[in-house]
Amino acid sequence: MNLRSFLGGTHVPHSKEATAAKPIREARLPAKVTIPLHQHTGAPCEPLVKVGDHVLVGQKIGDSPAKLTAPVHASVSGKVAAIGYYLQSGGRLVNSIVIESDGEQQLSPDVRPRGTVEDLSSEDIVNIIREAGIVGLGGAAFPTYFKLVPPPGKKFDTLVINGSECEPYLTADHRIMLERPDDIVYGIKALMKAARVGRAFVGIEDNKPDAIEAIRRAVSGVPGIEVVALATKYPQGAEKQLVKAILGREIPSGGLPVDVGVVVNNVGTAAAVADALKEGMPLVERVVTVAGSCVREPQNLRVRIGTSIGELIEECGGFVKEPAKVIIGGPMMGVAQFSLDVPVTKGTSGVLALSRGEVEAEDVSMPCVRCGKCVEVCPMRLLPLFISQRAEAGRFDEAEEYNALDCIECGSCSYICPSRRPLVQAIRLAKSEIMARRRKKQ
Ligand code: SF4
Ligand code: SF4
Repeated sequence: MNLRSFLGGTHVPHSKEATAAKPIREARLPAKVTIPLHQHTGAPCEPLVKVGDHVLVGQKIGDSPAKLTAPVHASVSGKVAAIGYYLQSGGRLVNSIVIESDGEQQLSPDVRPRGTVEDLSSEDIVNIIREAGIVGLGGAAFPTYFKLVPPPGKKFDTLVINGSECEPYLTADHRIMLERPDDIVYGIKALMKAARVGRAFVGIEDNKPDAIEAIRRAVSGVPGIEVVALATKYPQGAEKQLVKAILGREIPSGGLPVDVGVVVNNVGTAAAVADALKEGMPLVERVVTVAGSCVREPQNLRVRIGTSIGELIEECGGFVKEPAKVIIGGPMMGVAQFSLDVPVTKGTSGVLALSRGEVEAEDVSMPCVRCGKCVEVCPMRLLPLFISQRAEAGRFDEAEEYNALDCIECGSCSYICPSRRPLVQAIRLAKSEIMARRRKKQ
């Protein structure tokens, strides 16, 4: 079969066998959760509760008047034990609300059905999605309501739903597609109405034939929604690559999907939208893949936001051996952790405990041999070796001229480099330096 794809990219081992066939399991109720007030792109929230308050599941506990933000909600019922700065993924200290669970899981009266896709207006759906604190669950955590309203002068004609889950090890989206196909389709219909588009495509890599089949069955007879089987190639799930593969449209350098009339959302996000409409349940839990060869019983767990990643590993039987690295997210784009006492947030797609054999490639760096492989695989058609050299030499203006800001940090160049150059790390540094300089000039 001639499958749709994009230029560049690389074939990485899938390593998904340990969890792909296991049904999602509800994680144990944690004794306490630490809910960061900033777990999304945009402005952080301010607390709406104080220490000592009793809160209910689904109650809004943080919000912000900023244009781009996402409210946060209590994922357990119980007492607010503390509000303060706690460690989050990547070593950041983030203002957070700690709730001690009372074990009752009493629902907030705000958790109630909001109406049907047919009865609600586009504006209603956008507002419900905002109030439910829904963000992109693929990892980027960009507020979904914000994406659904195009900027002045632009409009959408197509919704693209990302079911590719191209990162190795991760199978949360795969399981959601198998276990909740009708909810995903309900969420897609809501997103289509919110974005005012008449057609949607669901892109799924062809290494998940059962998911393709499940979603095809669920969309049969639903007008305007089509499932597209995509070649299995990394990073198929990146927005620009997905839009190119499905629609053949090229998002311009520095541009966004809206520039070519497209809005992209993830399958898990679509299921969360269905929950927000049908039950009025805000985003208080998500599915997390816990895997890697150091985990005794890898699984997909449905987890309350704010649960510590250490508890998830314990729930999966603990470590069989000391991991060389614990990563939140996938091994290609995820963030290495130095503590297990960090909470699951809305963007946590996976917790991986990897052995030396699974990560050692990154540790030994040798000089560039000018083989050009990093250029061949770059899905953004950049010159990773030149950008990284400029970044390492502190010549950030030159890195910018090589379009460093277009890098999507997919890690393909670092993965393929025979000299194990830390290319993506150097490019990430260049990007943050260029952005900092731009901010100073403003
Ligand atoms: S330069 Fe950026 S976009 Fe290109 S392969 Fe490397 S990480 Fe991916
Ligand atoms: S892949 Fe590595 S060794 Fe080859 S050109 Fe790129 S940086 Fe140099």
